[in-house]
Amino acid sequence: MRRSFTFLLRPTSKQAAALAQCLEDHRELYNAALEHRRTAYRKAGVAVRYGEQSAELKHIRADDPGGQGRWSFSSQQATLRRLDKAYRAFFDRVKAGRTPGFPRFKGRGRFDTVEWPKDGDGCRRHSQPEHPTATYVRLQSVGQVRVHQHRRVLGIVKTISVKREGARWFVVLSCDEVPAHPLPATGAVAGVDVGVAWLATTSDGDQRHLAACASRLAAAQRKLAGKKRGSKRRRKAVARVAALHAKVRRQRLDSAHKAALALVRGYDVIVHEALKVAGMTRRAAPKPDGEGGYLANGQSAKSGLNKSILDAGWSAFLTILSHKAESAGRQLIAVNPANTSRTCSRCGHCAKDNRVTQAVFRCTACGHEAHADVNAAINILRAGLALREAARAA
Ligand SMILES: [Zn+2]
Repeated sequence: MRRSFTFLLRPTSKQAAALAQCLEDHRELYNAALEHRRTAYRKAGVAVRYGEQSAELKHIRADDPGGQGRWSFSSQQATLRRLDKAYRAFFDRVKAGRTPGFPRFKGRGRFDTVEWPKDGDGCRRHSQPEHPTATYVRLQSVGQVRVHQHRRVLGIVKTISVKREGARWFVVLSCDEVPAHPLPATGAVAGVDVGVAWLATTSDGDQRHLAACASRLAAAQRKLAGKKRGSKRRRKAVARVAALHAKVRRQRLDSAHKAALALVRGYDVIVHEALKVAGMTRRAAPKPDGEGGYLANGQSAKSGLNKSILDAGWSAFLTILSHKAESAGRQLIAVNPANTSRTCSRCGHCAKDNRVTQAVFRCTACGHEAHADVNAAINILRAGLALREAARAA
């Protein structure tokens, strides 16, 4: 199994400055490589490839020994590969008949990760067996940086990345051959409905919040909007919003891990709605509150920007859940989300009017009344078990 471990870095102020410079130079390299590709195409109709750009690195480094020449060759190759990947993804989407945005230049603060593709090449991890939490990572031209390793790393470290989040630095170790830890069978199966406000509901009626409340973030964003451009107060407000963003993201990840763990501990088979990138069923039209926001009717969250944030969180949760399920030897089944929330789990009658409010389901055919999310979770479970039967019969 492949799995990644993220730890807080504790660089000295000098090391933090070097890390910031490292990111900045990699960003410059990325932008220059993008410019090169664009110009070659515009002027000569030539498509530049990764191999050619990688071959030029030697000269770029030789011409700028105190700048680009300082950093690891392999990490620079990784940055060029990242651009190549962005290009490929762009052309794949064009081929699929969509109209994607062209790969963009990365502005300051829009390039926050550098990868070293191999432990021992421009970076090296040190751990002290007698003090498992006292570890360091040595990065070329940055130095030996302390790692706050709050848990054991399993498997073999393949790639090492450093990423910046606000004022903090993290190291991400991507490991291969991480051993699985199968859990004993429980004999239980569950469907999971993830509704508005990050609330996951199982077919047994268990509910769990996938995210902490983001209201402080919203308040900070409103404050920021009122500050004058270029002012000192605005700069302060920007920093505050960035810090809260990072905090909300960490809390979300933490709750997602806990919810996923509870699911794999409790059930042998877990059925969930497949994530549809374009157009999940909208449950209700949002009601504007007259101040640029939406009324808390509990239904607006599946539309517009909120919906895309919800989808992003849902996809992050599914990634965590699938890793844990694989490790624990559990089966995860994705089903088509269409109609799961408007179908009666008792008689199968499907109608929009079955959903009385966000929380209440009442079947217009048989009168069955239930918590709307539990009703949906039961439908999801049933659809998943039917898929499983069909797969067995085939
Ligand atoms: Zn019914």
